[in-house]
Amino acid sequence: MTIFKKIIDKEIPTDILYEDDFCIAFNDINPQAPIHILIIPKKEIPQLSLSDDNDSELLGKLLIAANKIAEDHDTKDAFRIVINNGAKAGQSVFHLHLHLLAGRPLSWPPG
Ligand code: 5GP
Repeated sequence: MTIFKKIIDKEIPTDILYEDDFCIAFNDINPQAPIHILIIPKKEIPQLSLSDDNDSELLGKLLIAANKIAEDHDTKDAFRIVINNGAKAGQSVFHLHLHLLAGRPLSWPPG
């Protein structure tokens, strides 16, 4: 079981910033920007590449949740969503999650 599943199940107390039927969001423990929020589906999908057509609605809902969370943090006009897929791409927790980054200039290309 991943640490994120334990957070979903409330086994690990975490300040939940947003929750609906499909996902929860909370601050990253090691923030890379003034706003660094993780948005994770309640369904256990280890990584994006293991999602399929049955997850289309869920994946859309994660992005819509990101919009709402960005708006809640007054940063709807300037934020970045990152999904690291696979260890070589920087994924360290194998429960699908979106990083929402904001609050500082975000350069391109990313590292
Ligand atoms: P990844 O590297 O898989 O794309 O992102 C995993 C993120 O989860 C990292 O940014 C890391 O700081 C964060 N993280 C790991 N463990 C915990 C935890 O127990 N609580 C919180 N809030 N964030 C965590």
